[in-house]
Amino acid sequence: CGIVGYIGKYDTCKILLDGLKELEYRGYDSAGIAVLNQKNGIDVFKAVGKLVNLEEKVNKSKKENYNLGIGHTRWATHGKPTEVNAHPHLGEYSYVVHNGIIENYKELKDELISLGHKFVSQTDTEVIVHLFEHYNNKLKDAKKSFKETIKRLEGAFAILLITKDEPEKIYFYKLGSPMIVGKGIEPDEVLFASSDSALIGLSSDVVYLDDRVGGVASKENIEFFSDEVTWSKLPTSKQY
Ligand code: GLU
Repeated sequence: CGIVGYIGKYDTCKILLDGLKELEYRGYDSAGIAVLNQKNGIDVFKAVGKLVNLEEKVNKSKKENYNLGIGHTRWATHGKPTEVNAHPHLGEYSYVVHNGIIENYKELKDELISLGHKFVSQTDTEVIVHLFEHYNNKLKDAKKSFKETIKRLEGAFAILLITKDEPEKIYFYKLGSPMIVGKGIEPDEVLFASSDSALIGLSSDVVYLDDRVGGVASKENIEFFSDEVTWSKLPTSKQY
């Protein structure tokens, strides 16, 4: 199981797929990526089994100009290794990838279903994206909504989340499962990975996130929060 993420002007699909290959040793049963183009369209590709299956699908139907994306290799804990259960998981307008286990997913799922949310997978992960949209629909503030979401989750989780509401950003959080965030070699690039093997040659400066640290990244900067501590910024531009 592994996670990758990328913001930048280079070939997003290739960077994500290459990163996932570097995380292969962690084991997986299925894989997927969600990539965003400049017209705010998100394309999702998923495949069961070897990464070449995913790679073939991506190369057959990918479009140009993706500049942000998240990727995942899954080691199923809740729900069979099927394409529907493969990550990224979709709400109405946001996508999430997750490593680990959401221990209290059943009660969260029941609550969200009673509020009208529709679930398609058997995973514990899917509650994260619906919980985020539940808060974001009310608060109209992705940053606040992401923090509210995290507060409700119990278990172990490394999470990346993207939303069409803020198409230039990747939200992240780590508790238990590993997560690294790095600036790119070039200015205005950000990378995420579960292990540094996926960042070798791509990143100039990395942060191994501590537990209970999260934030939001854009090409301009990476903002961090640590539970109730206020946000701080790390610029991605070399000029700083
Ligand atoms: N619990 C999640 C699932 O079963 C994530 C598993 C993983 O870490 O890959 O989909």
